[in-house]
Amino acid sequence: MAYRAVFRCIAGCSGEHPVWDPIYRCPSCGDLLEVAHDVESLKDRSAAAWMRLFDERYKRTTWPYGSSVWGKKEWVCPDVRNDSVVSMDEGGTNLFWAERFGRELGMDDLWVKLCGNSHTGSFKDLGMTVLVSVVRQIMDEGGDIRAVACASTGDTSASLAAYAAAGGIPAIVLLPRGKVSTAQLLQPIANGALVLALDTDFDGCMAIVQRLSQDEGIYLANSMNSLRLEGQKTVAIEIVQQLDWTVPDVVVIPGGNLGNVSALGAGFDMMSDLGLIDRQPQIVVAQAEAANPLYLAYGRDWEFEPVGAKPTQASAIQIGNPVSVRKAIRTLRRHRGIVEQASEAELAEAAARADRTGMYNCPHTGVALAALIKLRERGRIDAGARVVVVSTASGLKFTDFKLGYHERRLPDVPATWANVPVELPNDYDAVRRAIDEHSAGRESAP
Ligand SMILES: *Cc1c(COP(=O)(O)O)cnc(C)c1O
Repeated sequence: MAYRAVFRCIAGCSGEHPVWDPIYRCPSCGDLLEVAHDVESLKDRSAAAWMRLFDERYKRTTWPYGSSVWGKKEWVCPDVRNDSVVSMDEGGTNLFWAERFGRELGMDDLWVKLCGNSHTGSFKDLGMTVLVSVVRQIMDEGGDIRAVACASTGDTSASLAAYAAAGGIPAIVLLPRGKVSTAQLLQPIANGALVLALDTDFDGCMAIVQRLSQDEGIYLANSMNSLRLEGQKTVAIEIVQQLDWTVPDVVVIPGGNLGNVSALGAGFDMMSDLGLIDRQPQIVVAQAEAANPLYLAYGRDWEFEPVGAKPTQASAIQIGNPVSVRKAIRTLRRHRGIVEQASEAELAEAAARADRTGMYNCPHTGVALAALIKLRERGRIDAGARVVVVSTASGLKFTDFKLGYHERRLPDVPATWANVPVELPNDYDAVRRAIDEHSAGRESAP
């Protein structure tokens, strides 16, 4: 059976476009496109047969199916040839029971999906492998693409640079100067991309890269290119797969440009259409208060207006005019959506508090954890609910944030859990005294 996927307009304009066409918006109305699958042909396999197939391939080495994105290839981008795939083994990330942190919140079924444990340290790899594979196939067939390019708050450029390098494709990244972490700046530099650091914010970089993609033969790798979302939607399938094909009650996810939440919803919808699941989770989007246009829209019955994004430690979601907002609102309407926000103090304290239970959270995961804490306190999430928090990046990329917290240098953050090294002379008694004092402090702590 031949499976098929094409671009369609999300506003419902007629017509379909091959996924090989470098178009990012509907030629009739200008709205976003989405990848539409021929669901009828996918029904040639039963739900049980799909689950078996995905389980058989999971984390094995038969190219390219060991990647948890390409292990679901028929649902993602069926027309890509296996020899065009540019993969570095995406997905298959740990989903762990956050027992101790959950207990602190009075919950006994809290899980964290660590999407940051991936090739470039963020969930962006899930989508980038799909986009770059399509580009490679276009180029292999003589298509005219000079380079792939993106505007980025850090993780998109890291992922694009790595996948383009693996595929032998020139990459250009546009970053807001001084607004990404050192690790995120170094990643595309190391992978040999042309790195352009502009005196603007993410929204400014986005405007320029969109023009480049219209005028200069440059292929756009931002998430308005819906090929990325096809890879990202596998996170929903993978969560259900890891929970032995059961659906959690609530999924909490941080949102910036809002592609990831749209993808998450699309993954659940597709599993439902193909009979793998018979209920839907509630979806919670967490935004930084400094960049909260979706949170504001949620309070106005989804009436959306862009905002100017203010600086936040959660730099990857410092976005005031999210490109995928319409897709995200559609997802949230279907999934009893809730949007919550977190202040700089709330996100930093939540990340640090959860770190004390063994995690190592990036600030965006801090935003999601802070939202969870607030919704738990208000009783909007039940104590017994099975909740999955999507952790979007590795904390190891955010050393400045971590160090700033523990040295109490973050503005407006009390840093309740600050923990700094005790500097001592080379002296046994001094070490012993420091240990005794520390133990005494722990006994008297609340
Ligand atoms: C990109 C990113 C997000 C936001 O995802 P969107 O699809 O833009 O909403 C959140 N966290 C991290 C670490 C990211 O890199």
